[in-house]
Amino acid sequence: MLQDSSIDLVPPVTLRGQVMCPYCGVGCHVNVTTQDNTVTEVIGSKSSPTSHGMLCPKGALLAPILSLPGRIVTPLRRDSWRSPQTPTTWDVALSEASTRLRYIIDKHGPDAVALYGSGQLDTESWYVGNKLFKGFIGSNHVDSNSRLCMTSPAAAYRIMLGSDGPPTCFDDIEHADLFLIAGSNMNDTHPVTFQRIKAHCRKTKAKMIVLDPRQTHTAKAADIHVQLQPGSDVMFFNALGKIILERNGADGNFIVYHTNGFAEYEALLRGLNMNEAAAVCGVPLEQIAWVADEIIASKGLLSLYCMGMAQAVTGTAKCQTLTNLHLLTGHIGKPGAGPFSMTGQPNAMGGRELGGLAHLLPGYRLIENAQHRAEVERLWGVPAGRIHPNTGLTAVEIFQGLESGRIKAIWIVCNNALVSLPNLDQARRAISKAELVIAQDCFETETTHHADYVFPAAQWIEHAGTMTNSERRVSRNVQLAQPPGDAKPDWWIFAQMARHLGYTGFDFADNEHIWDEYRLMTQGRPCDQFGMTNERLKQGPLQWPCPSADHLGTPRRYLGQTFATPDGKAVFVAAHHRPPAEVANAEFPLTLTTGRLASQWHTMSRTGKVAKLASQAIEAFIELHPDDGAKFGVGEGDKVLVQSARGETKAAVRLTPKLLPGVAFMPFHWGGMFAPGGEANNLTNNALDPISKEPEYKACAIRVMPIRAAAREPEWVRPGVTEYFDEVVSA
Ligand code: SF4
Repeated sequence: MLQDSSIDLVPPVTLRGQVMCPYCGVGCHVNVTTQDNTVTEVIGSKSSPTSHGMLCPKGALLAPILSLPGRIVTPLRRDSWRSPQTPTTWDVALSEASTRLRYIIDKHGPDAVALYGSGQLDTESWYVGNKLFKGFIGSNHVDSNSRLCMTSPAAAYRIMLGSDGPPTCFDDIEHADLFLIAGSNMNDTHPVTFQRIKAHCRKTKAKMIVLDPRQTHTAKAADIHVQLQPGSDVMFFNALGKIILERNGADGNFIVYHTNGFAEYEALLRGLNMNEAAAVCGVPLEQIAWVADEIIASKGLLSLYCMGMAQAVTGTAKCQTLTNLHLLTGHIGKPGAGPFSMTGQPNAMGGRELGGLAHLLPGYRLIENAQHRAEVERLWGVPAGRIHPNTGLTAVEIFQGLESGRIKAIWIVCNNALVSLPNLDQARRAISKAELVIAQDCFETETTHHADYVFPAAQWIEHAGTMTNSERRVSRNVQLAQPPGDAKPDWWIFAQMARHLGYTGFDFADNEHIWDEYRLMTQGRPCDQFGMTNERLKQGPLQWPCPSADHLGTPRRYLGQTFATPDGKAVFVAAHHRPPAEVANAEFPLTLTTGRLASQWHTMSRTGKVAKLASQAIEAFIELHPDDGAKFGVGEGDKVLVQSARGETKAAVRLTPKLLPGVAFMPFHWGGMFAPGGEANNLTNNALDPISKEPEYKACAIRVMPIRAAAREPEWVRPGVTEYFDEVVSA
C-alpha cells in the first residue's frame, strides 16, 4: 500500500482503492482509479454501508479535483505584508516560520499564538497539530471551522446524553416512520442521505416534517412544511412538548427510569402561552398540534438537523429543546429513533473526537478537567502541568484576539477563514494586525493571499488518512496519487515544524504510526477507537465505540437506555425562547439567513472550478419575497447593495414567494476570488452562543437598495466564470 508522499510513482502506474468523498459529512465511499496520477474513474461504492453506491453531483464530479487550477505546489514566503509571495524551499520556509513563531512565543508567551484548523483535515494530521500546540507550545488557542458548524449539537449531546457523538446511524433511516428535518436543506446539502429518506418514505409511507423559514427543495418533498420565523425553533419545540404532554403522548416509564430534570422542563411547558408561541413562530396553532400528533403516533422518530439549528446564539438551546422531545416520548436508544446531527465537513466528527477544539483534548476529554489533562500529559510524555488549565479562544474569539493584539501569530490550516467567518470586515482587520500569518492549504484562497508563509498541502487521495462521518463511521483513505511539486501531508508539515521548534515526540514515520498513538488515547473513552487497528481499517470502515480488536463496532448507542452521564440517565433541559441577537428594525428592515447551494461546497476553492458545478452557481445572489422587492424598488435580476450594521455586499436579486415576507436568503459560498465584493459574510453577525461559542450566521438585520447602472462595477463577477452561471438546481 502506498504511504503518504514518501513514494515515487514511475509511469505507467494504475492504482485502485476505496476512499471517502472529501466533501460532506455523509462520507460516501467511492471507488477511485488513477492512471499516472490522473483520476480516470470515480464510481460510488455499492458496498458502502453509508451510501449504497450513490453519489451526489459533487461526488460524481470528483475526477478533475487533482488538476484544478490554483494548486499551491511549493512553499511561499514574503519579506513583509507589502511584498509579493515568492516560492522558496521547505528548508527555508520551515526554518524562518519556526524562528518567527519561537520569537513571538518567547517574547509574548504561548498565549500569543493560535492554530485555526478544519473539519476537512484527516484525524492523524489534526491530532499532530493539536498535540504540538496544547502539549508542547502550551497554547489552547486551537480551534477549527467546525466551531462554525456543529459545536451547538455537540454541546447539547454532552450536556443531555453525557457525551458528544450522535446516538444514531444512517441505517436508522430504514427503521423510522417519522422524520423531523430541522434547519437543514438536506436535498441540497446531504443529498445522498436525503435520497435514502425519500426512498424509505415512498416504500413505507413513513412521513417527513420539515422545519425551515424557506420553502426549500427539502421542504417541497415533505408531508408537512412548517415555515417558521428564523430563530423561533426553541419556542416551536417547547410548544410541541406542551401539546404532547397535554395529549398524554409522553412516555412516563422512560421519563421516570431514564431521565433527570423533567420537573423543571414540565413546569416550563405548563407555563407556556400557546398563542404567544404561535405568534413568535409565525405558525398557526393547528399546524403545531398537527406536528405534535404525528410525533405522538410515531413508532420511530428520527430527527435530522444541521446549521439552521446550530448557527445561532440559541443554537445549543435549539438542539436541547429538540432532544427534549425524544426524551419526552422515549424516541431514543432504539432502532429508527433519536436526534441525529448532520456534519457539513467530511471529518468534523473526527476533529471533535481528537480534541481539535479550544475546550477539548483527545478522546472527548475536557481542557478544564484536571484528571483529563493529567491523562493526556502522561500519554504525550510531557511534564505534569504542561497543558494550560483554561479553555482557549474559539474561532471568532481568536480573530477578536488578533484585532485587540492579544494574539500575535496565527497558523491557519485547510480553512478559508477570510470567506467563511462571520463579520468579515472584522476578520480582515484582525489578520492585518497579525505579526505572523502562516497558511497551509492545497489551493490558493482569499486567506492564503494574506500569509507570510504558505505551506503547500497534499489533498484527498494524495495521502493516506482517516476520517469519521456523521454516523461515527471511521474510514481509512488510501493514497492513490502523488502530491504535486513540494506539497506534503498536513501531519508531515506539523511534525516538521515541531522538530524545528525543538520538540521531540513527533518522529512519525507515516499516518499509521500516528493512528496507533491516537487510538490508544481513545481507549476507555466514549469515542473508543482502540479496537480499530490499521489492519482492520484497511478492510473497511468501523463505527465507534469499538473498544477491542474483536469488537464489531457500534451502529447505535444507548440501546439499553443507559446514557453516558454519571448516573446513566439523560437530562432534560428547560430552555426558554430568546430572539436572535439582532432583529429587523427600522434601519435594517429585513432578516437575512444564509445557506448552501447543491452544487457548491464551502468557499468554492474546489467546486467553483469544476465547470459543471460552477455552471449552477453563476453569481452571488440574494433571494427576496416579491412583496419586499416591490417595497424596496428592486426587481428580478437587479443588482443591489446589501448592507448590515457590519458591512455591505453586492448581489443579484432573485424574487421568490418561497420565502416569508421580511426574510432574505443568500448563499455564503462566494468570496473575493469568485465575486469581489459579493461576500454574504460581510453582513453576518459574529454574536456567539454562550455555551457552544458558535456564531449566529442564520439571522441578521439587513437592508437592500438598487445599484444604479452607472455606478455598477463591470467586473464584480469573476471574468470567465459568468458563462457558467445559470440557476440553482437540486441534486
Ligand atoms: Fe460527497 Fe456528501 Fe455528495 Fe456523498 S453526499 S457524494 S459525501 S458531497
